[in-house]
Amino acid sequence: MLTYYSDDHHLHHGKCELIDGQLMPCFEKPQRADHILARVKARQLGEVRAPKDFGLAPIARIHSKAYLEFFKGAWARWQEQGGKGDLLPFTWPARTLRRMIPNDLHGQLGYYSFDGGAPITAGTWQAAYSAAQVALSAQQEIAHGAHSAFALCRPPGHHAAGDLMGGYCYLNNAAIAAQAFLDQGRKKVAILDVDYHHGNGTQDIFYQRSDVLFASIHGDPAEEFPFFLGYADELGEGAGEGYNFNYPLPMGSAWETWSAALEQACQRIADYGADVVVVSLGVDTYMEDPISQFKLDSPDYLAMGRRIAALGLPTLFIMEGGYAVEAIGVNAVNVLEGFEGA
Ligand SMILES: [Zn+2]
Repeated sequence: MLTYYSDDHHLHHGKCELIDGQLMPCFEKPQRADHILARVKARQLGEVRAPKDFGLAPIARIHSKAYLEFFKGAWARWQEQGGKGDLLPFTWPARTLRRMIPNDLHGQLGYYSFDGGAPITAGTWQAAYSAAQVALSAQQEIAHGAHSAFALCRPPGHHAAGDLMGGYCYLNNAAIAAQAFLDQGRKKVAILDVDYHHGNGTQDIFYQRSDVLFASIHGDPAEEFPFFLGYADELGEGAGEGYNFNYPLPMGSAWETWSAALEQACQRIADYGADVVVVSLGVDTYMEDPISQFKLDSPDYLAMGRRIAALGLPTLFIMEGGYAVEAIGVNAVNVLEGFEGA
């Protein structure tokens, strides 16, 4: 399986995040992608290539022009103001407040984010832009006939909506790739999100559409981030009704429970008659993950890959979460090797 990867992810390295009342070093850090890349090479999964540059147009199919302009220019504005640390929001247009775009940098940052978990640093835009190009390059590989490809994206993307960053995510790599398939003539794309957290951004982007089916298996949002989306009764709206499927699972779920949900999600994808599958591949379902509460073990990821392969569809893997840094390479590559029948 071909892997696309860009060193540009090193340009993004947030200093800290607020966890349990304390400022902690960000769990989403460059070593994550480094470990996955090392494992891809150690297992000789296949060639590793640098991405091509498809420009902003395919990104702008998913993200609003105003959002992209804000994100691209935010760090320079922060520097002009003498900003010292990472650029982080602290006020959001929550219930009872007006949803308007203020002039102030932090006001705008609050408008374009849904939490404080997506720090903007000097290189964040470039890293996120390159991650989107990594996704598009792997997508192109499948468009040209490959059965599978791996986009080693960092930062991840599935929490980012059309004009919202949050949860370590800025540009929704999976959604950008799915849209590219459709723009190039595919009719039905299924996105299978196996990250521990609900892919709220991806769901929102396609919620009113029938050309993308979204299925997500995740920690029950009644107990877990992102809390405000990802419930089982969210089935899509309008033309999208019946094309959104959430499988929220209780804390502590292990492979037996998790794989039963995967079976249901795969059945939905098969019934849908998808042309192609985009997998939002998060491995924070791992038992040792420091911020998650599922109990999957490393061999389970091989079985996950085998079940996805049984769909018999061209499959694009897009890297999302996973914070047990020492094990992230083994777990992510196990999915890919399981898929390939290794
Ligand atoms: Zn996650």
